[in-house]
Amino acid sequence: MRSVQRKNFGHNQTLDPSTAYTPVDEAEVLRILNRHRDQRIRAVGSLHSWSEAVLAEEVLLDMGQLRAVELDTIDGQLVATVGAGCQISRLLDELGREGATLPSLGLITAQTIAGAISTGTHGSGRHSLSHYVLAVRIARYDKLSGKAILEEVSAGVPLEAARCSLGSLGVIVSVRIRCREQYMVQEFFREYAELSDVLAAQDAFPLQQFYLLPWNWSYIVQHRRETKERRSWHALIYRAYWHVVMDYGMHLLILFFARWNKTQSLARFSFRRIFPAFALRNWRVVDRSSSMLVMKHDAFRHIEVEMFVRRQHLDAALGYAKDVLHVAGGITSDLTPENEGRIAALGMKEDLAAIHNHYHHHYPICIRRVLPDATLISMASGDGDDWYALSFISYARPSQRAGFLQFAEFLGLSMSRMFGARPHWGKLCPHGAEELRSLYPRFNEFRAICKAMDPGRGFLNHWTEDLLD
Ligand SMILES: Cc1cc2nc3c(=O)[nH]c(=O)nc-3n(C[C@H](O)[C@H](O)[C@H](O)COP(=O)(O)OP(=O)(O)OC[C@H]3O[C@@H](n4cnc5c(N)ncnc54)[C@H](O)[C@@H]3O)c2cc1C
Repeated sequence: MRSVQRKNFGHNQTLDPSTAYTPVDEAEVLRILNRHRDQRIRAVGSLHSWSEAVLAEEVLLDMGQLRAVELDTIDGQLVATVGAGCQISRLLDELGREGATLPSLGLITAQTIAGAISTGTHGSGRHSLSHYVLAVRIARYDKLSGKAILEEVSAGVPLEAARCSLGSLGVIVSVRIRCREQYMVQEFFREYAELSDVLAAQDAFPLQQFYLLPWNWSYIVQHRRETKERRSWHALIYRAYWHVVMDYGMHLLILFFARWNKTQSLARFSFRRIFPAFALRNWRVVDRSSSMLVMKHDAFRHIEVEMFVRRQHLDAALGYAKDVLHVAGGITSDLTPENEGRIAALGMKEDLAAIHNHYHHHYPICIRRVLPDATLISMASGDGDDWYALSFISYARPSQRAGFLQFAEFLGLSMSRMFGARPHWGKLCPHGAEELRSLYPRFNEFRAICKAMDPGRGFLNHWTEDLLD
């Protein structure tokens, strides 16, 4: 038992529990739950979330010691049973030894499996990780005896809830997830002026993701597809290029603009002339998916808001974001007439005026396609069109984020009201509870399952309590 204050990766959340544990097995998790039956308990992973979902107010469970991995073949399907606190990086190593991998990957691998599924972590061109979850083993309290029990949730609506549950059903001790054989990915960069051309390439490159370069307003596309080709002989050189040029070189320049340089015209000039040159065009490389799909995006501290829109709204949402960035950066004081009309209809003209000239954006806007998930509340949940996640990132120092936070709140709220955009549960979530609930048609089903599995409300924090009660 330890009592320590902790900060999340972004240093925008501080956890100040009265008690903290690092249980080593399921039996210890049950003992802790029985010992703290009258207190609020929150399990966490790598604390890579920026939202208040991670806040532990009384008892904190760091699940890092539960990290066993077992790979089986069930009905011809590769299935891994993974301890809740196993980091994705370790899981990939273990699976890699058996020639297997995960069906979907985010940009980094530092998250734990339970943390990643609990907020709907996603990559590009596939469903979020939550979608592939077959069962979740959860420690919670029995309604009648009040004693801690273990339950495996593996079917029906409860499984759809458990696939992405914000820590609200109990303490996840392990996750059973569909895997697949390791595969090769071909990748190369190209630049486009028009979104329609980027989207037209999607059928040929289903795993692609792309970046809208601020102040240049072109699209740098990372075309990606699965291939049967062998690993390129120059794959290692490509990895070294990514590491030196993209992960560190480009990010150090971004840090310079975000933290030291106050000459905004120089930043805009760099985005037009220097940043596009970082992406070497048409260098076609084939490498293992688990190397190709990730990057060292956690090398420098930053903060992020990410909004999910359906494909039908993508064009308008990107045009709107560009417009708002112009106003926030002080380049213009008004939006285009169409967007002005939208803002006026929402009664948000004053909010727009308040961000004018308060925030100068300094990071490519990453856009990833996420297929609809079979979950109740992950951001891509629900049938219908594909979702596109638009991320806005700031590398300003934690003490200098006021402009970004104001911009993120305005953009997030207005995009939700205009386009039904959903904020990532693990990233900045400036919305109120009522507004968040309204974005998910099946939220009440989720709420009912939380109530049934956690009748004593022992697994809430103040943020999820607002959301669920
Ligand atoms: C640099 C960086 C890059 C990122 N890239 C991506 C990306 O590409 N795609 C994407 O979608 N997201 C991305 N994220 C967001 C990240 O994937 C999510 O926030 C994820 O939830 C973090 O996992 P974690 O293990 O750190 O969990 P934490 O942040 O510690 O916890 C997240 C939630 O899970 C709950 N939880 C954790 N473990 C348990 C458990 N055992 N039982 C019950 N509840 C539990 C917590 O209570 C909390 O509500 C990124 C974040 C960072 C910092």
